Amino acid sequence: PPILELHQYTYRYKDGAVALRDVSLQVRRGERVALVGPNGAGKSTLAACLAGIRSGSGRYRFDGKIVDNRRRRELWRHVGLLFQDSADQTVCSRCYDEVAFGLRNLGWPESKVHQKVRAMLRWAGLGDLENRVPQHLSGGERKRLALASVLAMEPDVLILDEPTAGLDPQAEENLLKLLDEVEATILLISHDICFVSMLTDRTILLHRGKIVRDVPTWRFLKDE
Ligand code: ADP
Ligand code: ADP
Repeated sequence: PPILELHQYTYRYKDGAVALRDVSLQVRRGERVALVGPNGAGKSTLAACLAGIRSGSGRYRFDGKIVDNRRRRELWRHVGLLFQDSADQTVCSRCYDEVAFGLRNLGWPESKVHQKVRAMLRWAGLGDLENRVPQHLSGGERKRLALASVLAMEPDVLILDEPTAGLDPQAEENLLKLLDEVEATILLISHDICFVSMLTDRTILLHRGKIVRDVPTWRFLKDE
């Protein structure tokens, strides 16, 4: 089955704004999909619904199984969300603990946590920074720390909300190299056309809560 499947999915905010209207979409395991569209199109709402943070009407199947309220609360283990502002995402006073946080919540024994944290920090190029305070890192380092923390949980799906916002070209390139190694299914929200073209092979265009295009990324870029 597709890893993500929405069928006629609608999300209405309490004050009346309809952020998603009758959205149907399927994403296969391992696909890398860009989610683009103007501000207010519904991209973040869609990400929140897929991550189980919000819940609308219509059908949502994750890996073939209907996402009811119980399953929705378990999605955090399967869907990793990298927020736009990674600084808000850090909760610990040491980089090491930041990456360990989710694993400890899962009840991993400390020896396994240790192995995983070391491996993830090394992978993210942060091996020497494990005792540093996350808030004191550079923007690029913080982004990589957030990515290492999310991926430590080995999610099936990784959702990135404007990951390159505020990064300089070198930091952006470092991030791209890491993301290119990620095996999880990727959903990338971005206005950065260059980043979209390097990372994804399919692009979904949202406009006023509706999917108006869903095409290979090369075709999307050709027609832009
Ligand atoms: P809920 O408010 O449904 O329990 P959350 O706990 O995720 O959902 O809410 C986080 C914040 O987002 C809240 O402060 C709430 O005001 C806002 N929010 C959540 N869902 C909606 C909605 N359907 N319409 C408007 N605001 C919402
Ligand atoms: P995007 O991520 O594409 O910029 P959003 O998903 O943030 O779009 O927003 C989609 C629509 O929902 C917009 O009309 C926005 O104003 C509205 N919206 C977003 N968040 C809230 C909220 N917490 N309460 C009420 N309306 C919201």
